[in-house]
Amino acid sequence: MGGVLLASVGLALLTQGGAAAEERDASVLAHRGYYFTFTRMPTYGLDAWKDIIDCVREDDGNTVILYMSGAFRSRAFPETWAHNRDHANVKEDFVRELIDYAHERGVKALLGFTPFGYDGVNRMSLTRPEWRATGPDGQTVAKFGFHSWGYNLCPARPDTQAFMLAYAREMIHEFYPNADGLLIESSDYAACHCKDCGARFYEHEFRFVKAISEEMWAMNPDAFIIVYPHYFTGNDVPGLGVAAAREPFDPRWALVFTPHSAHPDPDLIAQARGAIWWDEAVARHGPRDIREGVRRAVEENCTGYLPSLEVFTYVPTEPEEGQAYIVGKRRVPYGFGWLDEGRMPYDELPVRVNRIAYRAYCRMPDLSDEAFRTLLGRALFGSAATAESVADALEIQRIYAADRTWCQPAPLLDPERVRAMREAGELTEPRIEAYRVSLNRAQEIASRYRNKGEAFAALRRAAQWIADLWGERTETFTGP
Ligand SMILES: [Zn+2]
Repeated sequence: MGGVLLASVGLALLTQGGAAAEERDASVLAHRGYYFTFTRMPTYGLDAWKDIIDCVREDDGNTVILYMSGAFRSRAFPETWAHNRDHANVKEDFVRELIDYAHERGVKALLGFTPFGYDGVNRMSLTRPEWRATGPDGQTVAKFGFHSWGYNLCPARPDTQAFMLAYAREMIHEFYPNADGLLIESSDYAACHCKDCGARFYEHEFRFVKAISEEMWAMNPDAFIIVYPHYFTGNDVPGLGVAAAREPFDPRWALVFTPHSAHPDPDLIAQARGAIWWDEAVARHGPRDIREGVRRAVEENCTGYLPSLEVFTYVPTEPEEGQAYIVGKRRVPYGFGWLDEGRMPYDELPVRVNRIAYRAYCRMPDLSDEAFRTLLGRALFGSAATAESVADALEIQRIYAADRTWCQPAPLLDPERVRAMREAGELTEPRIEAYRVSLNRAQEIASRYRNKGEAFAALRRAAQWIADLWGERTETFTGP
């Protein structure tokens, strides 16, 4: 891999700053960028999304996945966006313009959706009970979702197949013909176990995947279409209780692999046009996990690492993650309550730490901790950086990420969540102690930078927000 040479070239370039083309070539991974559940981010308009593309670019990204189903004003299937009528793109369709903007910035845009499940698609089942999938117990599956609630569909039926094709065609041909490809994201939560599906579930899903892929290639032979390995390996699919199909693999496809639902397959990777590693490290963890994500992608011979950077800004209508307290309350990404709801969150310090880590480790997977800290300090604080300020930034990042879920900010960022945990008997002594320690650390950091200069404004804001949020309220850890 020539790691030593790449590392020295990368370090020299990093210290010079800038983003010249030769720097990007120093990366070991050809496909870089993030996955966004666009459909669950209804509050961001075109300007916010242009800012997001700029963030991707700043992080050396050249690819974004925009998970679009349920987020465009389908003329054929208005039920797919009825739950999302307040989404900025449903109100004022701007994604074609956004994709043009991404292209100007050197970023390719792939449209994401799930065959027979998840956002928009599952809403079709509400008025068509016969479309609903069957669970392993022979009964209709349970209603499920994030933001878009419904039932996943049985793929063996001619009518669900026809719907999926028509809906995907509308997205690809009529709405966003300038997109560079697709992520066809096979469901990670349920299969169909009806008599027609059973062991043939993925064969049915594959009929649709193959048809829509061939159509898109006919329109654009260079379209980058990422699919799951579940149609080709014959192996058990993690978590779903169904074996993958054994269909022929067309090397025009790229593949995606994840820690929870699709494990890397060296034989397939060797045949594919591209192989993408996806994980939650940038969205939900910290620099060490991001480093491991990059290394895993390289070790598995993937051509890219497109981790999630998704946040949710919708108002839940159902208890999600089993939490009734979130119903009716707009989700605030990371608990950054100081931002207007239309303002994208990725420039705030706790996320910037991870973005800087993503760029640095993609350039140099073997970067030492010490070199990373130096680089992080320079990126966050310029010449004002000190070892202490870097440690404080990492600590604030850790606090904002600790126990964060897809739907819920870290408990320390949401007193209501702490109350719900206490009522559910989940607020154990070790947790209370951990939250107290974190709160003390945030308070210390807030006071340390209170009278320091502008270079530390973002660190101060993130720490002070926690201090102000709790004020005299620490009793909530233990009592009402
Ligand atoms: Zn079925």
